[in-house]
Amino acid sequence: MNLHFNRSLAKNYTSKAQIIRVLSEAWVKENGYCPNCSAQPLTEFVNGKPVADFYCAHCREQYELKSKKAKLSNIVNDGAYKTMIERINSEDNPSFFFLTYSKECTVNNFLIIPKQFFKPDIIIKRKPLSATARRAGWVGCNIDLRQVPESGKVFLVKDQQVISRENVTQQFQKTLFLREQSTASRGWTLDIWQCIDRLDTHFSLKQVYAFADELKLKHPENNYIPDKIRQQLQILRDKGIIEFVSRGHYRKLY
Ligand SMILES: [Zn+2]
Repeated sequence: MNLHFNRSLAKNYTSKAQIIRVLSEAWVKENGYCPNCSAQPLTEFVNGKPVADFYCAHCREQYELKSKKAKLSNIVNDGAYKTMIERINSEDNPSFFFLTYSKECTVNNFLIIPKQFFKPDIIIKRKPLSATARRAGWVGCNIDLRQVPESGKVFLVKDQQVISRENVTQQFQKTLFLREQSTASRGWTLDIWQCIDRLDTHFSLKQVYAFADELKLKHPENNYIPDKIRQQLQILRDKGIIEFVSRGHYRKLY
């Protein structure tokens, strides 16, 4: 994998946004591969497809690319809020590639967030554009990556280090079980998973119960939070994400 953009492709463009789009898409086409089945190359959708930028001709996974200069931050700007929420709730939403690059046009980070990790609370509504703006009243959104469990951030390149393809596909496939869940049930699994991310490798049921108030804020309609916690720990255990050590004690397997 060559981590440098091919800058000669930019010579016919003047707009910065356009240049980056051209360079980063060309880079993905040349160096990217499908994190689900490892097929290469990815195929670019012809212009006009609103949902995704790339797809895998082998397994049909769809990918959208977001590129950003400098560091990987927790908040990523995205397009219209309403469109984004509709997409998250639809069946054919794409997974998201995030790419960050240095001022020398070298790829710093390239990661995928599989679509099963997207739920409405990671999409934050921005303030409507002011009355004097060209698109007055338009509401954009931000993607809050802090709401995504660590296992939902699959790095293909991390801090300019290329991660082995085998590790990438393994990590990607390990969480595909989330796609089989209903939206509500997946929301719970992801919320509990995100709590566990904040605990040490060995943790107790009691420590997870300590997140009950926080979980209640996210799920005000639920009056059985401890039951829900135990149920979700069971699911994560059955899927090989955590293991049961002894009564009330667990260990992370990731
Ligand atoms: Zn594939």
